[in-house]
Amino acid sequence: MQEIITPLLGWFALNKRELPWRQDRQPYHVWVSEIMLQQTRIEAVKKYYARFMEAVPDVRALSEIGDDALLKLWEGLGYYSRARNLKKAAVTVMEDYGGSFPRGFREIKALAGIGDYTAGAIASICFNERVPAVDGNVLRVIARVTGSRENVLLPEVKKRVTQQLSSIMPPQAGDFNEALMELGELVCLPNGEPDCAACPLQPHCAAFREGLTAELPVRIKKLRRGRAEKTVFLLTDVDGRIAIEKRAGQGLLAGMYQLPNDDGYYSEGEIREILGSRGLSPVSVVFLGEAKHVFTHIDWFMKGYRVTVENPCGRYLWAKDSELQTDYALPTAFQKILKMDKSSGN
Ligand code: SF4
Repeated sequence: MQEIITPLLGWFALNKRELPWRQDRQPYHVWVSEIMLQQTRIEAVKKYYARFMEAVPDVRALSEIGDDALLKLWEGLGYYSRARNLKKAAVTVMEDYGGSFPRGFREIKALAGIGDYTAGAIASICFNERVPAVDGNVLRVIARVTGSRENVLLPEVKKRVTQQLSSIMPPQAGDFNEALMELGELVCLPNGEPDCAACPLQPHCAAFREGLTAELPVRIKKLRRGRAEKTVFLLTDVDGRIAIEKRAGQGLLAGMYQLPNDDGYYSEGEIREILGSRGLSPVSVVFLGEAKHVFTHIDWFMKGYRVTVENPCGRYLWAKDSELQTDYALPTAFQKILKMDKSSGN
């Protein structure tokens, strides 16, 4: 393992990409980008990052932003609890650290929404602390270099890789960690397609030597996913305003706005009955189609209906289409229903 340090750092110096959050190594920039990168690829994150930094340029601004504005900024990235934790951590940085980001791995990890990986990335990249930052890219590279057949999805395997990297961590810890991630992103690609010919670690790589690049890393998932069937209502009044409501403060998509929906599938007659019991008189019920949305532990199988009603009831908030674009963060799952409606020509 020791032998990978010099070629890796040399390769990184020549090949690292110019990324917006790498310009100055400020913890705020690295932190926000790392949280965004947990769920989205680098190219897609660039536009979200630029939008976020323009609206929320520093920790103070983040600690003061309203919840609805924050969720609107996060729209499209999913996993809204991450946005909420960003704000929570920003409040802690303002209150407990006078607005200066804490410098040590332990203090950083104690902030809301920050785990071992993100704390390691910030501590090493911004403060050069000699701690690893082990994400999926790093696990893949190390499993291949060492020829390990262990399941990289197991916490104990991740722990062992973290220890291995700790024991060889050079003084240029930030560069070393970034170089491993960058190699995983650009060269040692997943799904058996690494570009070994362009890899600086090839002379030290067991997977390359033994022809195991397609088999490693071993990833065995145990997770059993949930499934939910839902009927989603695109309720509009005669002025074209759309009904939305706020979800409960706990659980999936907590506190987000949503289109009204019910668990299960229903016939047109049943839909009229359900909405009638809520004080609404449907003028028309039109089936829009089906859509699937994948969350971390559950898949939603949705059937969407456009229902025009005569009398908008006070149970819902009735928003104009333009307000949905600017004021209310509607999760991607429900945007799929809006999209189906638009493409149906309504
Ligand atoms: Fe990955 Fe190939 Fe490099 Fe080994 S030689 S680390 S498999 S890209």
